[in-house]
Amino acid sequence: MLSPMSQPTFPMHVSVTEAREMLAALLPALDTETVPVSQALGRTLAAPLAARVSHPSATESALDGIAAREADTLTAGKESPVRLRLVGESRAGVPFEGTVGAGQCVRIYTGAPLPTGVDAICPVEELQDDGPEHVLLRRPAFPSDVRHEGGDFRAGETVMAAGLWLSAPRVALAAALGHAHVPVRRRLRVALLSTGDEVIEPGQALKPGQVYDSNRVGLSAMLQESGCEVIELGHAPDSPEALQAAIGQAGGADVLLTSGGVSMGRYDFMRDLLIERGRVAFWKVRMRPGGPAILGGWNGLPVFGLPGNPVSSLVVFHVIVRPALTGQPVQSLKLRTATPFRGLADKTAFWRGVIKGGEVHDYGQQGSGILRSLSDADALVIVPEGGPVAAGETVDVVLL
Ligand code: AMP
Ligand code: MG
Repeated sequence: MLSPMSQPTFPMHVSVTEAREMLAALLPALDTETVPVSQALGRTLAAPLAARVSHPSATESALDGIAAREADTLTAGKESPVRLRLVGESRAGVPFEGTVGAGQCVRIYTGAPLPTGVDAICPVEELQDDGPEHVLLRRPAFPSDVRHEGGDFRAGETVMAAGLWLSAPRVALAAALGHAHVPVRRRLRVALLSTGDEVIEPGQALKPGQVYDSNRVGLSAMLQESGCEVIELGHAPDSPEALQAAIGQAGGADVLLTSGGVSMGRYDFMRDLLIERGRVAFWKVRMRPGGPAILGGWNGLPVFGLPGNPVSSLVVFHVIVRPALTGQPVQSLKLRTATPFRGLADKTAFWRGVIKGGEVHDYGQQGSGILRSLSDADALVIVPEGGPVAAGETVDVVLL
């Protein structure tokens, strides 16, 4: 087996950005398929979507109340209420057909078309009946409670761009635009393999030194969240033959993700296989946790080897793999620190942080084996190479 110390022929210690870009560059362009809009959650839009209708489709009320002329109601509530004559009603689907004149109003309900002649709404909470034909307004009617035709979007307008990741609000928007089906990129097929002699299935009796396979479950969940199709290759022990046999099952996948066996240890055979019999694009990333990650290829299949430590593998997925697979940038925001965060001379640190009172606090236990830190924390606090960050400074954080 190769000594990890011998002179490498591939880049080592790449930056997080380089790692992400190198992985993205190995992935295929994805064909387009059409899916029902109700099935499009988590997919990526393959073509722009234009509005087939305007929304609202007519000028309408945003509230339940009465529709009146604003000018008639301006003195309401100053000394006494304003009294208007009721001449009808407009409700969703059944508009008021006539014209509302001066001193008149109609009862109106949310989403009902605004009749001709009026321009403002007074909500039902501010009204008092005054006999069957009149109503008293305790305050003026506001034009701001009128929703104008096309105020959300207009028919023909391009509203959603190609490449957009379809979150729940975005699938709702696609439906509102009038699309029963949407063009999306086909799902990326990701084969997933965990490795390690000590790694066993949850539910089995655990012997000393063994650990339940949390990485495969966590990575599979993150892949599904990311709109990928997961090809489960299960688990392989630490033997080059077993690893090769398992990788051989990845036929049809666009990329293989593995967990474990890529670090500096003697039994880290994933690393050896890629270096000696496959191809390596880079080994090691200037980050913690997650430093030992490796990118390479096996018979034309891109292979990304995640470290086995549970926090490392999920953090690498979060900041390198997911953005590369989905094309969606890592969303970060700036927060003030309530506690100091340690810096590392030549690595970007992704410490787990807890957000309280608009500030981010150190979670405390930052070991890459402390899986609870990822579950309990709200965010990864990014401390750039060099660091440290003092309490009261501003940092970039990635929400978990
Ligand atoms: P490795 O990267 O293979 O050297 O593993 C580093 C650490 O992560 C060891 O403590 C392993 O027991 C642990 N580990 C490896 N694979 C998994 C896994 N699939 N689930 C949970 N822990 C793991
Ligand atoms: Mg291992």
